[in-house]
Amino acid sequence: MFDSLQDRLQSAFKNLRGKGRLTEADIDATAREIRLALLEADVSVSVVRDFVATVKERSAGVEVSRALNPGQQVVKIVNEELIGILGGETRRIRFAKNGPTVIMLAGLQGAGKTTLAGKLGLWLKEQGKSPMLVAADLQRPNAVTQLQVVGQQAGVTVFAPEPGNGTGDPVQVARRAMEEARRTLHDVVVVDTAGRLGIDAELMRQAADIRAAVDPDEVLFVIDAMIGQDAVQTAQAFADGVDFTGVVLTKLDGDARGGAALSVRQVTGRPIMFASTGEKLTDFDVFHPDRMASRILDMGDMLTLIEQAEKAMDAEEATAAAEKLMGGKFTLTDFLAQMEAIAKMGSMTKLLGMMPGMGQYKEQLANFDEREIDKIKAIIYSMTPAERDNPKMIDGSRRARISKGSGTEVKDVNQMVDRFFEASKMMQQMAKGGGVPGMPGMPG
Ligand code: GDP
Repeated sequence: MFDSLQDRLQSAFKNLRGKGRLTEADIDATAREIRLALLEADVSVSVVRDFVATVKERSAGVEVSRALNPGQQVVKIVNEELIGILGGETRRIRFAKNGPTVIMLAGLQGAGKTTLAGKLGLWLKEQGKSPMLVAADLQRPNAVTQLQVVGQQAGVTVFAPEPGNGTGDPVQVARRAMEEARRTLHDVVVVDTAGRLGIDAELMRQAADIRAAVDPDEVLFVIDAMIGQDAVQTAQAFADGVDFTGVVLTKLDGDARGGAALSVRQVTGRPIMFASTGEKLTDFDVFHPDRMASRILDMGDMLTLIEQAEKAMDAEEATAAAEKLMGGKFTLTDFLAQMEAIAKMGSMTKLLGMMPGMGQYKEQLANFDEREIDKIKAIIYSMTPAERDNPKMIDGSRRARISKGSGTEVKDVNQMVDRFFEASKMMQQMAKGGGVPGMPGMPG
C-alpha cells in the first residue's frame, strides 16, 4: 500500500534538494509532481486540487528559516496537509454514559463488515468491555454463521436469530438484541448489517430502519480501500442514505494505491476511525492521521527530527555555528551552545537512531550525560575570552587556574578540553557530510 505514492512523492521532493531558496518554478514543478502522484494513487480529483493549491500557496510563503532548509519546509507542509486531509486528530469511539454503547456497521457486501465485527469484539474485550455482536445481516446466506465463527474466535457473545423464529426481519433482530444486551449487561453492542454488491434504495432503507431501531452511538461506514475511485461515490451514497459518524478502512494490507484513504474524509466530512490490515482478528488498529501521513511520506522519524530541530535550534546560533564549523573556527563558546542545543533536542542517542548514516557517532554520544553540561558551563565560564576562542593555548598552569575558578578538578578540565577537540573534529566531519543543520537523506 502506498508504495508508488511514496516513490512519487520522494522524487517530487528530490528536486528541492540543495535549493537555498525556492523560486516560483521550483514550487510549480514540485506541485505538479505531487498532483500527478496523488492522481495516480486514485485520490479524488477535487481533493487533489485543493491539496495541491494549499501546498503551493504555503510553499510560496515559506520564510527563510534558521532551522530548516526550503526543501525540508516543503516536506513539513506536505506532511501537515496530509494529516489535515486524513482528519487531523485521532478520533476515538464515543462510549455511551448510560446503557450499552451501540456501534452499527454499514457498507457494501464484501467490504469486511462481518470480519470487522469480530475485530471490534476482540479489541473491545481487550479494553475491559463486554461486547455483544449482533447478526442483523440476513441477506447473505452465510453471514450469520460467519459472525458466529468470528465471535467465537474473539471469545465474545454473538446474538443471532434462531432459525424459523420470525427471523426474516433484521430490524426485529436488532431490537431483540438490544433487549438481550440490556438484560445480560453487555456494555457494547456491535450490529452487523447486510450489504449489497452495489448501492441500492432497498439497502439504504434497511440500514436506515436498523439505525432508527437501535439508535446507535456510532455508525461506522466500512469501506474496502482497494476500490479506488469508486470509494468516493460509495461513501457519498452512504452518507446521504444512512449517514455515519465514522469510517473504517479495510484491506489496507492489499496493494491498493491508497486513494480511498486520502479522499474519504474530505469528501464525507467524517473521520476515519479504524484501519483493517488483514484477515486475522488482530490485523486491526485505531486510525492515527499523523502516523498514516508519515507512512505515506515514508520518512518516519525524520519528520519527528524536523520538528525537534525546529523547536530546539535558535536559527541565528545555528547558522553562525555552521559557518564557524565550515571555516574550522569552532570555539568553546560554540561548543557550549551546541551542547545546550543537543540537550534541548532530547536524548542524543535517540536522535541519532533517527538519522540515517549517523550510526558511526552513536557510541561516542551514547555516553552523553546531560548533567555534565553544568560542569562544562562552569569550566568554560572560568576561562578568559582568549582561552575560549583559542583552546589550544590552555596549558597546564591555565588548567590549574580554571579548575580552581570553576570548583572542579584538573582532570575534569583536562577531560573537557579533550572532549572539545574530539567534538570539534566530529562537528567538522558532520558539517562536511551535512550533519544536523543539513540532515543527510533529506532534501538540502
Ligand atoms: P462483509 O460482506 O462486509 O461482511 O465482508 P466480510 O467480513 O465477509 O469480508 C469479505 C472478505 O474480505 C473476507 O474474505 C475477509 O476475510 C476479507 N477481509 C476483511 N477485512 C480484510 C482486511 O483488512 N484485509 C484483507 N486482506 N482481507 C480482509
